[in-house]
Amino acid sequence: MARFHALEVTDIRKTIRDAVVVTLRPANDAAPEFDFVQGQYLTFRRQFDGCELRRSYSICAGRDEGLLQVGIKRVDGGTFSTWANSDLRVGDRIDAMPPQGRFHTRLDAEAQRHYLGFAGGSGITPVLSILKTTLAFEPRSRFTLAYANRSVNSIMFRQEIEDLKNRYMDRLSVVHILETDTQEVDLFTGRITQDKCTELFARWIPVKTVDRLFVCGPEPMMRGIVAAAKTAGLEDDQIKYELFASDQPGRAHHRAAAPTHASTAPVTAAITLDGATRTVTFDRNTTLLEAALANDLDAPFACQAGVCSTCRCRVIEGEVEMAANHALEDDEVAKGYVLSCQSVPLTDRLVVDYDQ
Ligand SMILES: Cc1cc2nc3c(=O)[nH]c(=O)nc-3n(C[C@H](O)[C@H](O)[C@H](O)COP(=O)(O)OP(=O)(O)OC[C@H]3O[C@@H](n4cnc5c(N)ncnc54)[C@H](O)[C@@H]3O)c2cc1C
Repeated sequence: MARFHALEVTDIRKTIRDAVVVTLRPANDAAPEFDFVQGQYLTFRRQFDGCELRRSYSICAGRDEGLLQVGIKRVDGGTFSTWANSDLRVGDRIDAMPPQGRFHTRLDAEAQRHYLGFAGGSGITPVLSILKTTLAFEPRSRFTLAYANRSVNSIMFRQEIEDLKNRYMDRLSVVHILETDTQEVDLFTGRITQDKCTELFARWIPVKTVDRLFVCGPEPMMRGIVAAAKTAGLEDDQIKYELFASDQPGRAHHRAAAPTHASTAPVTAAITLDGATRTVTFDRNTTLLEAALANDLDAPFACQAGVCSTCRCRVIEGEVEMAANHALEDDEVAKGYVLSCQSVPLTDRLVVDYDQ
């Protein structure tokens, strides 16, 4: 089970006016816990005015770089991101859970694939990690990056991307799409919509040669890209996406086998966490996560909005329903995995496992 460890800040630099790149070093011999797969994220926790906040940030370093690094863009009025951009200092320590997330595919040094990454704004962080790791690990593969931003000044990692283009001249191509700045090619100006993406596929990005698509950015942009990619012939299992925030209800609701009934009886759940099983009782409007925390079980969680997968657990017996799910893939849901922050019980008895 993921637990918090102290990380020491060893470097902070601005990548654009309102985003910092933070380099971290695990303290107290926790380094092996922070070995990561490209595209994964760290969940930090910190007290603000006596309240604990947990926020996730994707690792932007490549696996081969020997660095643990995240990029944090300041969100207007955002508590954690504003603090990280203005008050976080070299030498500070911050608690983080080991890397999590499934925004990646298995690499193969012999493979000769074409990867396509679409990123919007701070959504570049996991895509950059995937891009760097893939080009280093698969010498015969190539990568196309389409990166959407408001203007030139808001392009995170601009210089690093240029350096990568020079380093991988034959294998990396980059298209910057800027909302407000006019560019030589009209198609590269404006927001990425499904139509613009379809046109990009027709004129610039040979989508038929794409083996894997990674998408991370604002939700409407992601929806447009995925729709255009599917229309162009990409299958679900070729597309991976990571969402940072959502105001939409999620895609897959989990309904296990049993029919629902209108019982108002309290629910009993046997919850396994860190190898120990406890039985707790709670009412039907309570989520699995709330029930676990209310009973002093140290269940993992972060966004509490169905966006990250930190609170994932498996329902072994009984039935729950998720209000939102933006993180679990269909095959995980089919195996009984749920986001516990979004899951309310539909049956009187549940058996739940956080360790699987
Ligand atoms: C798996 C995962 C990976 C992530 N990786 C990164 C990353 O690499 N870099 C990064 O900068 N962020 C990343 N995020 C987003 C990050 O976790 C926070 O949500 C974000 O920094 C805002 O937190 P806050 O405490 O500053 O704002 P809050 O105080 O939580 O929110 C303030 C206001 O901003 C809105 N808001 C919250 N999040 C966003 C957002 N992302 N965009 C626009 N408005 C928002 C809220 O609705 C609210 O109105 C990631 C999120 C997830 C789930």
